Amino acid sequence: MSDPSEHGGAAGGTSERGLPGAGLVKGLAVTLKTMTSRSTTQQYPDVAPELPPRSRGVIALSEENCTVCMLCARECPDWCIYIDSHKEEVAVPGAARPRQRNVLDKFDIDFSLCMYCGICIEVCPFDALYWSPEFEYAEYDIKDLLHDKDHLGQWMATVPPPPAHDPNGEPAKEETAAARKAAAARPAPPAVRPEPGADPGAAS
Ligand code: SF4
Ligand code: SF4
Repeated sequence: MSDPSEHGGAAGGTSERGLPGAGLVKGLAVTLKTMTSRSTTQQYPDVAPELPPRSRGVIALSEENCTVCMLCARECPDWCIYIDSHKEEVAVPGAARPRQRNVLDKFDIDFSLCMYCGICIEVCPFDALYWSPEFEYAEYDIKDLLHDKDHLGQWMATVPPPPAHDPNGEPAKEETAAARKAAAARPAPPAVRPEPGADPGAAS
């Protein structure tokens, strides 16, 4: 058994050094410091919090960008994206045969399963998914956390614009590739012909 005098210093009003009431004074000092310091309480929901621009609130879907490639649904670690589609024939003027395209029938995300990892947004090759900082979509019924494509599309209005380009940053790789292509396509300058009668060795 341990000796109670080893542990009972502050609790019993006696410090480890044996000064009576030192623990009480220490506690009151903390209370006084807290009372006089500025409050950090946020008055939510009366005052909306200032969120960082890249906050992960809810996922928004830009339906017209989605090609139903299924990459997001396959990569989602929680399997909480449900996609359904059908094929449609589109007549192309001048083409021998009509083309086929995917038409999105269903695009649901179950936010009761989502862990907000952002993988679906990162892997989407067609910029169809975005983060919105909107977070006020709690529901009384967990089933209502399944957002369909119309609901996900409504969040697009809350997606912030992309940040401005850093003027000191590297140029986009598309710009570099286009400049390289344009330089390669430019015709080479004509070779300089020597003047008739001029000494051929004078140019060298
Ligand atoms: S954020 Fe992560 S868990 Fe949520 S839907 Fe996207 S991939 Fe799935
Ligand atoms: S990865 Fe993008 S384009 Fe492909 S199905 Fe998902 S949202 Fe649509």
